[in-house]
Amino acid sequence: MNLEKRNKVFIDRDKLYNLLDRKAPQENELDEILNKALKLKGLSLTDVAALLCTEDEKQIEKIMQTAHTVKEEIYGKRLVLFAPIYTGNVCCNNCTYCSFRKDNHQLKRKILTMDEIADETRALLRQGHKRVLLICGENHKNDTSYMCEAIRTVYGVKERGGKDYIRRINIELAPMEVEDFRRLHEQKIGTYVCFQETYDPVEYKRFHPAGTPKADYEYRLTVMDRAQEGGINDVGIGALLGLTDYRFEVMAMIEHANHLEECFGCGPHTVSIPRLEPAQGAPDAQNVPCPVNDGDFKKLTAVIRIALPYTGMILSTRENSAMRNVLINYGISQISAGSRTNPGAYAEDGKGTGSQFELGDHREMEEVINSFIDEGYVPSFCTGCYRKGRVGGDFMDLAKPGLIKQYCLPNALFTFKEYLEDFAGEDTKRKGTALIKRMLEEYDQRQLIPKIEKNLVEIENGQRDIYF
Ligand code: SF4
Ligand code: SF4
Repeated sequence: MNLEKRNKVFIDRDKLYNLLDRKAPQENELDEILNKALKLKGLSLTDVAALLCTEDEKQIEKIMQTAHTVKEEIYGKRLVLFAPIYTGNVCCNNCTYCSFRKDNHQLKRKILTMDEIADETRALLRQGHKRVLLICGENHKNDTSYMCEAIRTVYGVKERGGKDYIRRINIELAPMEVEDFRRLHEQKIGTYVCFQETYDPVEYKRFHPAGTPKADYEYRLTVMDRAQEGGINDVGIGALLGLTDYRFEVMAMIEHANHLEECFGCGPHTVSIPRLEPAQGAPDAQNVPCPVNDGDFKKLTAVIRIALPYTGMILSTRENSAMRNVLINYGISQISAGSRTNPGAYAEDGKGTGSQFELGDHREMEEVINSFIDEGYVPSFCTGCYRKGRVGGDFMDLAKPGLIKQYCLPNALFTFKEYLEDFAGEDTKRKGTALIKRMLEEYDQRQLIPKIEKNLVEIENGQRDIYF
């Protein structure tokens, strides 16, 4: 591991733009790159640049087919579901693309009390959720102490006589110090998520006015190094697509993954690809500087999938249901469902206070689940690895030889079965049960079938929280 490079800037703007200054690949170069991708060992920055520089529909189709093969090989037909809990929309920053910016006086502000956070948690548990992402604006009132208390509150909520509880909390918070991360780690958080927004240091200045904490590009860029030093093994990176050239942002995310691998022996646990959506009181969201069209969005999802095959990819409810249903075939492995982005919205039946951006997918959880069943995907609420301590480098050691497949599908089936027993309507239960049966028939690890079937029967008999 390279200790020298820790906490140092790793984005060389000119290098990345120079790599992108090229023509589309010839057919033989494209085939060579895609054959490399099928070995599931990722791709170099030069290869990624070549793929990003094609506009040819036939070439893009080939890239997407390769991504589909990689996705099926590593992740199979399952999709992890979660929901964000916005604990507050008060922010001291002024990011030009976000409704929570402090100069947006149209927005009604709120920071949830612990009781209100408990109410939000109860509302999500009643929908069947088991994994949440805690998220809020940046403000001294929702600092590390507040977040530690919020985490304890969420974990402390129990429903149906203790049968239902949140099993994993991820958090998305502003950059902080190593000591803060140690405190969060003690509260047993899963992944720490922070998006760079844009990795372009020049453009970054434009969107993040000077004087606010967020204006410090380097402090944000090196946050995952401090998180790792503070004991957080799983980190989630991302860029807000639409601020600058999407091709640069994809290259930079790959570079970020390379940096983490080199310095800490393990790349990011997840990559998020939020696309800028309209947001009230946010000029750069009303008039997106570099819009990413649907075709480019599909292509970049496929390119990231094959470049970072073992990194989970997250899509939020910014995208509409049609786009979400397409992208699960080409890379996305985690998706938010039934989400609301305004504090208090779950408990207040969709009302809440001031949202961050407009949602593309307004469906309720069961509707989302139904549509994934129709697509042949098993909705999963699995938290097995974190509970068993398979995190960070240990997780990657398991994932890379493909061993993770032994855990993921059975655990997906167990948690899906729980959902069908506890929360689903008649029709969903019937369709879901048929899907489980089909998955078992097709599952190639035949030696595990008796144990899986036994566990499914135990779940039917009332046992909960079973995992490999
Ligand atoms: S993007 Fe984050 S830091 Fe910027 S204004 Fe919105 S909530 Fe605040
Ligand atoms: S078994 Fe591990 S990697 Fe697979 S879905 Fe569950 S937690 Fe994620």
